[in-house]
Amino acid sequence: MTIKQIDKQYIANTYARFDLQLASGKGSLVYDETGKEYIDLATGIAVNAFGVGDEDWKNAIIAQLSQIQHTSNLYYSEPCALLAKTLCERTGMKKVFFSNSGAEANETAIKAARKYGEVNKGKDYSTIVTLKNSFHGRTITTLSATGQDVFHEHFTPMTDGFVHAVANDIEDLKTLVKTYKCCAVMIELVQGEGGVMPLDKAYVKEVETLCRAEDMLFVIDEVQTGNGRTGALYAYMQYGITPDVVSTAKGLGGGLPIGATMLGERAENLFTPGLNGSTFGGNPVCAAGALSVINRIDEPLLASVREKSAYIFDELRGASGVKSVSGMGLMVGIECEKDAGAVIAECMQKGVLVIKAKNKVRLLPALNIPMEQLKKAIRILKEACKV
Ligand SMILES: *Cc1c(COP(=O)(O)O)cnc(C)c1O
Repeated sequence: MTIKQIDKQYIANTYARFDLQLASGKGSLVYDETGKEYIDLATGIAVNAFGVGDEDWKNAIIAQLSQIQHTSNLYYSEPCALLAKTLCERTGMKKVFFSNSGAEANETAIKAARKYGEVNKGKDYSTIVTLKNSFHGRTITTLSATGQDVFHEHFTPMTDGFVHAVANDIEDLKTLVKTYKCCAVMIELVQGEGGVMPLDKAYVKEVETLCRAEDMLFVIDEVQTGNGRTGALYAYMQYGITPDVVSTAKGLGGGLPIGATMLGERAENLFTPGLNGSTFGGNPVCAAGALSVINRIDEPLLASVREKSAYIFDELRGASGVKSVSGMGLMVGIECEKDAGAVIAECMQKGVLVIKAKNKVRLLPALNIPMEQLKKAIRILKEACKV
């Protein structure tokens, strides 16, 4: 049997995989099992922040692997302490809870919000407002937070206490906050799975003002937008806001699983021993890799992310077959005249990997993709979009 046949027989049928088996890679180039080369503009869904097999990242995890691979959270451990310190110093947040994925990072954010409501407003202030078209994860509770009905089908009853507001409509949010007893608003600043839709800056400022006026935690889901992806260390830094809770994952580990929930001043003391926990959370190997990723995301790197972003937008806006381009930094959505699936298939055949978000073609290249490789990939993508 081939690997594809074994996969189909033995792996739960939850993924409509592309007809491609990835075997190896280096930087932004990846190879299938026959040795065919692809320029990778997908990076395992914004996970391989510095591409495949990045030397700094590999050295950091190998060094930690040769010390100790896991300790449990019953003991102190250097990599997760240093990672938390670095994240707090770079963001102004106060404390970090580590987990293993974006959904878990959001679960902790939700726990923080509920506890905040109980302590500051009363036990029944437990409702969290999220946005329509959002995506917050695949656990039952983060699915409930996700404002897309298709994700709720078959799994009801959902967790209670989530209502969904129309994005960029502050009056809708105000109505919900008046109607329900709310403890928090949780949003993505660029809705990733929802079609790479950045929120309006004025709206996000108004959400912050409302959170302050109504004593609600302002929670930002930066699972996809975080860790340099949008051209700032965290996207909220480009919105001029001070969130109370920031969740992140995906690119943070550079390819190993780690989630982080950062707690600001209003949230830092909500958790006490026993109130939350994780067996693997803050694993030393993952944390050592994440520390090397965060330390690399400095102003020169972020400037290069913004430059490459401008290049992509300039090339694609107005190109034949391109209806619109949305996004921020190296998180880009392209609405094509052709079916997105057909564009993706043509790109793959010509050696470029891109993925989908709703009806759009989505680009999530490595933060350090070499300009020559990016240019070649965009040229192929434009050919594929052409009508
Ligand atoms: C991917 C994603 C998640 C879920 O992350 P997992 O690691 O798959 O659990 C949550 N929120 C956003 C915004 C995401 O893009």
